[in-house]
Amino acid sequence: MSNQDTMPVSKLTQTFDDWAIAPPDVDCLVRWLAADGDDKEMLYRAADQARARFVGEDIHLRGIIEFSNICRLNCNYCGIRAKNTAVERYRLDKEEIIELAFRARVYGYPTIVLQSGEDTTYSCDDICYILEEIKKDGPLAITLSIGERPHEEYYRYSGSGCDRYLMRFETSDPELFSKLHPDDNLEKRLGCLEAIRAAGIQLGSGFLIGLPGAGLEGIARDLLFATKLQLDMIGCGPFIPSPGTPLADAPMLEDRDVYYKAIAILRLLNPYAHIPATTAFDAIFKDGRNRVLTRGANVFMPNITPQRYRPGYQLYPNKPCIDEDGDQCALCTRGRVHSIGRKIAADAGHSMRPDWIDRVAAKPAPSLSSAGA
Ligand code: SAH
Repeated sequence: MSNQDTMPVSKLTQTFDDWAIAPPDVDCLVRWLAADGDDKEMLYRAADQARARFVGEDIHLRGIIEFSNICRLNCNYCGIRAKNTAVERYRLDKEEIIELAFRARVYGYPTIVLQSGEDTTYSCDDICYILEEIKKDGPLAITLSIGERPHEEYYRYSGSGCDRYLMRFETSDPELFSKLHPDDNLEKRLGCLEAIRAAGIQLGSGFLIGLPGAGLEGIARDLLFATKLQLDMIGCGPFIPSPGTPLADAPMLEDRDVYYKAIAILRLLNPYAHIPATTAFDAIFKDGRNRVLTRGANVFMPNITPQRYRPGYQLYPNKPCIDEDGDQCALCTRGRVHSIGRKIAADAGHSMRPDWIDRVAAKPAPSLSSAGA
């Protein structure tokens, strides 16, 4: 009997413990992605139950600081790609970034995410300096999201206090990846992900849901690929056509629920992963992020970027909160969490994967961190 026969949506809630033995296949996932009516609601319920059972009621807050929109790459979907001349570029200096990290403590965020375009003006030493200075002020988990760097740099970041790293594989189809990234390839991206994990950093990755040309089967393959990577965090969001890019006129998925169904399936396949309600969900649905939090997600990323820079960091149109500042986002976040009856986590929200503790023990000795210096 195929998985398709053994895994009807109606059996989802009973199957948590069996999946290690019989993981669903592509056909099965395509069927789940197409689920409608009662089946769709059951999928959402199963994901929410899996979330409650494996990662609990806490919502982990990660304050995001978008510190530079300058990028050397030309990803075809991205609003801040190098060739988009309509974007007003900005770059925060090191001290400004460190100061914003301090704001995160004031807001009570136990983690910050430092994200930027691929801006090589910040050297490895600059990034290490920023990490070390922030850590000097007291405990605060730091996630970097600054793209592909020479592998040895990841070891140095790890040695300087980088706890986590976020870099999406975007699509698991090597041909589609090359088509979408004129100056990159999937093998190189995956090599970086491997190096990050080897450096003892918690690994986050994910993909764009509904990329033109992917179809439901592509999404199913991406879901399985993300699962195979055994990620600590999985961040996925809808692809949204962005003005000033080659994909400005590309269509989004007709069945908008597929975006949610993909997240629900991610939770079912990855019970212990941290899964954020990514910002792009708010760009296409009213209260989109709130709904993702009730369909499998357990992480929320309030924005700390000063308001004056926010219009410059529009990877896609309709990005929420671009006319707000960090104070407003902090208040709104608390309201959101309360409105869905959950609570804000007090701890740093490190990896919940059962193998994480072994990986901490195997973390490279500090001397390795200067291997490529
Ligand atoms: N330079 C960093 C950060 C990239 S921006 C890095 O390479 O990791 C973070 C994410 O925004 C990207 O990984 C991409 O998946 C997403 N993104 C970019 N353009 C988008 C669009 N048009 N719609 C939705 N998400 C987009």
